[in-house]
Amino acid sequence: MNATLNPVRVVQELKELRALTGDENGAQRVAFTPVWVKARAWLKAKLAELTVEVHEDAAGNLWATLRGESERELLIGGHIDSVPNGGWLDGCLNVVAGVEILRRVAAQGKPPVTVRLVDWADEEGARFGKSLFGSSACSGALDMDEARGLVDRDGVTLPEALRAVGIDFERVKESGRELAKAAAYLELHIEQGPVLLDLGLPLGAVLGTFGVERHAITFRGQAAHSGSTPMKRRRDAFLAAAKMAPEIYAIADRHGGVCTIGSCATKPGIVTSVVAECRITLDQRHLDPKALAAMLADARAASERFATEGGVGVEWERIWHIEPRPFAPELIALCDEAIRETVGVSHRLPSGPLHDAAETCGAGVPTVMMFVQSLHGISHNKIEDTKEEHLEQSVAAFDRLASKAMAWIAAGGGRR
Ligand SMILES: [Zn+2]
Repeated sequence: MNATLNPVRVVQELKELRALTGDENGAQRVAFTPVWVKARAWLKAKLAELTVEVHEDAAGNLWATLRGESERELLIGGHIDSVPNGGWLDGCLNVVAGVEILRRVAAQGKPPVTVRLVDWADEEGARFGKSLFGSSACSGALDMDEARGLVDRDGVTLPEALRAVGIDFERVKESGRELAKAAAYLELHIEQGPVLLDLGLPLGAVLGTFGVERHAITFRGQAAHSGSTPMKRRRDAFLAAAKMAPEIYAIADRHGGVCTIGSCATKPGIVTSVVAECRITLDQRHLDPKALAAMLADARAASERFATEGGVGVEWERIWHIEPRPFAPELIALCDEAIRETVGVSHRLPSGPLHDAAETCGAGVPTVMMFVQSLHGISHNKIEDTKEEHLEQSVAAFDRLASKAMAWIAAGGGRR
């Protein structure tokens, strides 16, 4: 038995998975499809070589359990599903690194606490437009009425797609019992952004996932002839909306978050008319709930000011929101330590994208993530990549974090 961690094997296995489930356009492991089932079978074959118990829960999440001296559990999570034409690392890096950690821990004898790897089902939401399916069913946050009505491009409902892979939609929340003994949760992931790349650092400790406020803002003025209407007589809905563009940069700058106007639609939308109605969408994100609320309040106040200046009306409609999910300070410190011991220097950063870790965190399980640098700062694309040297370092640092977290739980740390 080999009791030494082998990060090179992780990179080899990731390439194996890529060859098995990708094509010339990238990864094709969309959840609940035959390619995803094939990826799962590959994962189960790897786990079959270990002394772990494997089962799928009511939501289709795959669990591999290595029993320890204590029933209290350290969870390591990831997702083997991908977006269509996805990258070779998003989600599966952690699953494959998790298998390697289970191998290393199992080879050293019975661990002090129970260690479990979970492959969450349908993290990406690529087919039904709703991400974090398996982890939100498990955390209890999944909105059953909303999920029941989801339909894919071919008219297949989510419950029908689940039935095809042996999952009963009405029972998915029974997966929640899997968290009963969870003391802590760890997730390794590629950064999917350019922060670590720009700093020239391989690894970072994640502070939490951003809270998100997503709104539609509609300005209503009056359509008028573009030739006959003097400039100062216009009630131009587009002018008021356009003033929001530089304003959100100032707001993001003031509070340290990010703001995006991602769409703009005008009515009547013809070249010879002043705009009567202009609908824009605003997405605001921040790790601090007070700062997020302040960014939203500032944007609202600005929209009302611009509406008054232009003699138009303004209406707000919330599309979606989620609270910020700050990770556990003790685990962030352990993550920092593990990174410093492996590569000399660490950096703390928030996560812009959501991850399954947001759901375990929301369910009250102390959680932390580790990020590894993304080349080009790009993901959800076949050009997604990370230097192999950095991948190997991430596996080594994450393994150290797992050991530290096990010791922390064994000493009484984590959720009880
Ligand atoms: Zn992911």
